[in-house]
Amino acid sequence: MKITIIYDNMPPLKKGLQADWGFAALVEAGRERKILFDTGANGEILLSNMGILGIEPTSIDEVFISHPHLDHVGGLPRFLDQNNAVKVWVPPSMGEGIYEKETAVVQGPIQIHKGIYSTGELEGIEQSMAVETSSGLVLVVGCSHPRMKNILGSASQFGKVYGIVGGLHSTSPESLKDLGLICAAH
Ligand SMILES: [Zn+2]
Ligand SMILES: [Zn+2]
Repeated sequence: MKITIIYDNMPPLKKGLQADWGFAALVEAGRERKILFDTGANGEILLSNMGILGIEPTSIDEVFISHPHLDHVGGLPRFLDQNNAVKVWVPPSMGEGIYEKETAVVQGPIQIHKGIYSTGELEGIEQSMAVETSSGLVLVVGCSHPRMKNILGSASQFGKVYGIVGGLHSTSPESLKDLGLICAAH
């Protein structure tokens, strides 16, 4: 499993990448499946950063939207201009038929592929992704609005959570103390 952060408000490590408020990451897991997790706020910046990182939009199989805040979905229309064949997983808070694209609405905690899970929408706002690795589950989160205790609670039904990557808005350091890996972004 590999995670590449494409869009973040932290200063980028690689030359040419633009920082902007929002989050997007590429998750490569399972049988080389490529999932775009969130799309950042601005489609031009998303596509520019993808280009610099050598990520071809047409190589993406699926998009997983954590929650409908603009800094996570704003880049979606421009991405869909490049690749409209992707399956788009959304939480119910997103609403249906968004951007005239049929979406797969995740109602509750589910396995979306072998070894890849959604916590389901929590607190009426946000879903997170959990991916199996040899060390345990790695959680990919957008903003963590539903609070870490609830996110970890839902994810743990799929296995022991080892690490977390993404935006940690509503997170006390205490709630992360049992994790082996923390990659705080956004
Ligand atoms: Zn948010
Ligand atoms: Zn956010």
